[in-house]
Amino acid sequence: MNTAKLSLRGAAALPVLLLACAGATAAAPAPVAVTAIKAAHMLDVRSGALINDAVVLVSGERITAAGSKLAIPPGANVIDLGAKTLLPGLIDAHTHLTGNPEDAGYSSVRISVPRAALTGAKNARLTLQAGFTTVRDVGSEGYADIGLRDAINDGDVPGPRIAASGPALGITGGHCDDTMHAPQYNAIATGVADGVEEVTKRTRQIIKYGADVIKICATGGVLSMGDDPRASQYSPQELKAIVTEAHRLGRKVAAHAHGGDGIRLAVLAGVDSIEHGSYIDDEGIKLLKEHNTWLVPTLYLGDWLIDNAEAIKLPKPLLEKAKVVLPAARVNIGKAIKAGVPIAFGTDAAVYPHGLNGREFAVLVKLGMTPIQAIRSATVNASQLLGWSDKVGAIEVGKFADLIAVDGEPLKDVTTLERVQWVMKGGAVVR
Ligand SMILES: [Zn+2]
Repeated sequence: MNTAKLSLRGAAALPVLLLACAGATAAAPAPVAVTAIKAAHMLDVRSGALINDAVVLVSGERITAAGSKLAIPPGANVIDLGAKTLLPGLIDAHTHLTGNPEDAGYSSVRISVPRAALTGAKNARLTLQAGFTTVRDVGSEGYADIGLRDAINDGDVPGPRIAASGPALGITGGHCDDTMHAPQYNAIATGVADGVEEVTKRTRQIIKYGADVIKICATGGVLSMGDDPRASQYSPQELKAIVTEAHRLGRKVAAHAHGGDGIRLAVLAGVDSIEHGSYIDDEGIKLLKEHNTWLVPTLYLGDWLIDNAEAIKLPKPLLEKAKVVLPAARVNIGKAIKAGVPIAFGTDAAVYPHGLNGREFAVLVKLGMTPIQAIRSATVNASQLLGWSDKVGAIEVGKFADLIAVDGEPLKDVTTLERVQWVMKGGAVVR
C-alpha cells in the first residue's frame, strides 16, 4: 500500500518538475523593482520627531529602508513629493463602510445586503483616498463587510485593509437588533443572541463566516429605536461568555458602550476596546487604565449628524437622543483623555459621509490631546488594537508600504490630515 502511494506521488510530481525547468531556461526571474519616495519631511510617529530630507525605499508591498538622505539604488523608480510631509497610512478603528448616513432612519429597511456591499465598495474607495489605508469595520448586517474585505484583498475593488467584524452581537431589542419594524415583520438582526449558550454559538458562527474581530452591543445606542444609551444590555455572564469564546478563537472583542454600567461590565469581562464611551465616569476611567482597555471615541459625528438630521430624515426620537448623548460624550471623553486612558482613533463613519474621517483629529486635539498624540491614536495605537503592529501603523522596515503625504505641518495643525494629498497602499500609489 505504501509503495503504491509513493509511486503515484512520484508520477504526479514529474510534470511539475518539467514545468519548473522549462520556466527557468526561458527567463531568469525579474528583479523586484525598487521605488524610492522622497519628501522634505517624514514624521516618526513613535518619537514625534520630524525627519528632514526623507527617503523611503519600497520593494514589492513592503518598506525596505526609511531615513534621512538615504542613497537611492540605481534604476529605482523615484517619486519626489517635494515639500510634503510623509506619514504612515492612517487607521480608523471604527467604521461601517457598508452604510451611508441616509440609512440611519426608516430608509434602512429597503437596503438589501448585496446593495450594502456595493455601497461598501464606493465607501472603501473614498476612505482609502482620504488617507485611511486600514480600517476596522465593526458591525455589518449579513456579512457585507466580510465580502468587501475579501474583494479588496483579491484586488477586485480598491479600498483599505479591513479588519471586519461581520454582524454585531446584541440582545433582542437592543442597539444591534432591527428595531425599526412593527412586530408582524418579525425582523431580527443576524447578530442577535440571548443567554450564555446562544451568545457562545453566535460568536462561533460569526467567526466561522470570516470575522477578524467580534463586535458586541453592551449598552443601548443613539441610532436605534426605543432603547436607552445609558442602560447596559448584555449581562456580565453573557459578556464573559462572548469574550472567552472570541479570545479562545484568537479574535479581539470591541464593545459598543455609552453608559457607565455597560462600560464597567464590558471592561471587567475582558473586552479589548470600548467604542464611543460617551458616559465614561471616574470608575470607568480607572478600570480602562488598569486593564489597558482601548477607548475608541467617535466624536466628530455629533456635529455632522445634528446639522444634517433633517436632510437625512433622521426619525425624531433618534435626533432627541443624539442631542443629549453627543454633547455629554465630549465632556466625558475630554476627562478620559486628560486622565491618560489609552485612545485609539475611530469615527463611526457611515453616521456621516465616508472620506471625512480626518475631521476627528481636530476634535481630539480640542479635547486635550497634542497633535502627535492624536496622530499616534490613528497609527501606532490603532495598529496595536487591531493586533496588526507588525504590519501597519509606522514607517518601518518590514511593514506594508502604506504611506500618505500632506502639505503643511501636521504637528502644528492636525487639520492638514483632513486634506491628504497623496496615498500609497502596499507599494502602489492610489492617490
Ligand atoms: Zn458604530
